[in-house]
Amino acid sequence: MERPLPRPGVDEVLVKIKMAGICSTDLEIMKGYLPFEGILGHEFVGTVVQGSEKECREEGLEKLIGRRVVASINLPCYSCAACKKGLYNHCFKIKTLGMRDKDGAFAEYLIIKQENLYLVPETLDDREAVFVEPIAAAVEIAEKIHIKPTARVLILGDGKLGLITAMVLMALGLDVGIIGRHADKLKVLDGQDIRTYLPEEFEGMADILVDCSGNSSGLKMAMDMVRPEGKVVLKTTVADSQAFNLSSVAVNEISIIGSRCGPFDPALRLLKRNDLPLNRMIDSVYKLEDGVQAMERAAQQGVLKVLLDME
Ligand SMILES: [Zn+2]
Ligand SMILES: [Zn+2]
Repeated sequence: MERPLPRPGVDEVLVKIKMAGICSTDLEIMKGYLPFEGILGHEFVGTVVQGSEKECREEGLEKLIGRRVVASINLPCYSCAACKKGLYNHCFKIKTLGMRDKDGAFAEYLIIKQENLYLVPETLDDREAVFVEPIAAAVEIAEKIHIKPTARVLILGDGKLGLITAMVLMALGLDVGIIGRHADKLKVLDGQDIRTYLPEEFEGMADILVDCSGNSSGLKMAMDMVRPEGKVVLKTTVADSQAFNLSSVAVNEISIIGSRCGPFDPALRLLKRNDLPLNRMIDSVYKLEDGVQAMERAAQQGVLKVLLDME
């Protein structure tokens, strides 16, 4: 669909998208997880092409024009009660790129606030940089809970976020295992010093269990696999819901912690310092005009990352 080229406002820049990733959240939004009707897409890498007229006269922006960037996805209002407490990601009037009141990156161009931008190190190519947002989401686990370096961490689910979370926690030096149903997907982690299990193979208990199952039944499984007084980190966000008995949470004194978006600076550092096998995560690359086929491909069972190439 043709739309006029958006114009950046004060403190905003116009970014020409180079590459964007289709995330399971995009597919969930299409199923009704969020009431969003704008342009989808929150995982991208692009080039800054223009700032607002006011900003252009200032020095800072000159350095940004022509630079390769990624951007954090939340746009808080800075004036509501949550923002006043510093809980910017929980702003009551939050706008979120490609999810809430803000057009996303499945387009040729995007407008974003300058404060959301992060420069991409030159050593990272576009196909790595496009993964910064999910890597940041995985980094957030260590931001949310204290993980002892000796802890046995187990990830539930071998989908995109599960595999990326395994890579990130491994890069942080932890003892990491992952449970998935798909031997072909677990192969992405070959040679990564991450233990992989099919569901029937896992025995024992994890100190920390990260639910990346993308399934409403994941939490129940997670509670059965974590040790008493262990922690379950919930990463799954799905449109459907399921009711079950939570008594074992009380009896076994399990902590359940929700975790969503994460910080971009450490995610970029981690990407720069580690040679993560992200290229094995890429299923296919489509042109933007073939976006419908790309979404269909991404929605198929067992398909890992589908990218949109805007160049
Ligand atoms: Zn995502
Ligand atoms: Zn706010």
